[in-house]
Amino acid sequence: MASTIPARSANRLLIADTDPETLWFASRTAEKLGFAVACASNEAQLREEVARFAPTVILIDPVAFSTQEVDALRWLGERRQHAALIVSGSAETGLLSPPEISMAYGLEVSASLNKPLGTSALEAALGPRLIRTRRVTEIELRRAIDRGQLCTHYQPKVQLDRDGWRVCAIEALLRWDHPEYGLIYPDEFIELAEEHGLIAALTDYVLQSGIEQIGDWNRLGWKLGLSVNLSAKLFTDVDFADRMSDFLFSHGVAPEQLTLEITESAALVDPSGTLEILARLRSRGIGLALDDFGIGYSSLTQLYKLPFSEVKIDKTIGMEIPQTPAARMIVRAIVDLGHHLGLTVCCEGVENRVALEVLQQCGCDHAQGYLIARPMAAEDLAHWIRARANSHRVPALAAS
Ligand code: C2E
Ligand code: MG
Ligand code: MG
Repeated sequence: MASTIPARSANRLLIADTDPETLWFASRTAEKLGFAVACASNEAQLREEVARFAPTVILIDPVAFSTQEVDALRWLGERRQHAALIVSGSAETGLLSPPEISMAYGLEVSASLNKPLGTSALEAALGPRLIRTRRVTEIELRRAIDRGQLCTHYQPKVQLDRDGWRVCAIEALLRWDHPEYGLIYPDEFIELAEEHGLIAALTDYVLQSGIEQIGDWNRLGWKLGLSVNLSAKLFTDVDFADRMSDFLFSHGVAPEQLTLEITESAALVDPSGTLEILARLRSRGIGLALDDFGIGYSSLTQLYKLPFSEVKIDKTIGMEIPQTPAARMIVRAIVDLGHHLGLTVCCEGVENRVALEVLQQCGCDHAQGYLIARPMAAEDLAHWIRARANSHRVPALAAS
């Protein structure tokens, strides 16, 4: 099963699985993304490939792979494996959650996938782990804009109640579908766009495609909110609020359906200029969310000095809820604080059921995370929504 691809490639994926179809499917998907791939279908091969191939990422089904005598995860943990780990399995086989694995074995788990593996879930797990040997350039980014290589993925945001949740909005997340590298995630090109004056063009694209999509869905009777991330660099355009209102109106989308998300660092750049633009947006009914709250530049005063309507708890806190009592306390405190300030509170990074239940118990309004759904293309999301519209646990879409 050893790969013939040279091990010196910067992206080396070792797939450890006993199922030949999974090995074949995952290899093909990973190679298309630019990984050199090696496979191991038994424990001896796992040992050999870890030493020979020095993988940068390991995709492993720990349950299928371990025997009574050998626990594959324990073995990797003892070797102080630095590769990013993606675990796969089916719920019935009792797969541990990523936080449980990191606690038990000292391994960093970057994603957990249900079997049978699907292309988009596998690409979403592998894509962010891809180290590009060559960074993308400004010229490539300009070309990408001209050639229509940008696309938007949407992640559902749900409203929580005691019994379950229902989809109330979607967050637009930018992707670059590069002909050679595959999907490139925003962390790799937003800064580049900001440095070279391209961020307005990217944001216009996301706003335009998102608002058009919401307008189409409005006509189908689906009233969903849309959240779009805004860069701090855009807070120089005082006419932004007027342009936004006109644009929403021309697509039959109510201002209340749009929320603009900014990060704490963005809000700090030019407090007075930012305040004026944010106040204009709010006065037109557009929502404003303080994104990634609780990390970095946390400043509680921003929550009342700037006219926010929502606060989003950073995903790193959401991801820690199940295993860290302090994370649960922080979430409760932010929910209480937000509510006292008249803000709705959304928690990101909800990856398992325990986290969701904690959020329901503490009265958090909204949640987003891989447990509910990963970001996906609009057609896939429409499918996803339809499939859940009649389900018992997930009541029909918000009526307004
Ligand atoms: P963000 O706005 O905080 O978006 C949430 C990020 O967390 C997204 O990453 C999403 O895919 C990821 N995520 C969602 N649920 C989970 C989960 O349960 N677990 C984990 N581990 N991650 C989760 P993505 O799409 O890579 O975006 C990263 C950041 O890039 C965004 O963070 C946002 O700040 C920025 N960004 C995305 N699109 C745009 C855009 O159009 N304009 C600007 N200026 N920034 C953007
Ligand atoms: Mg955001
Ligand atoms: Mg965030």
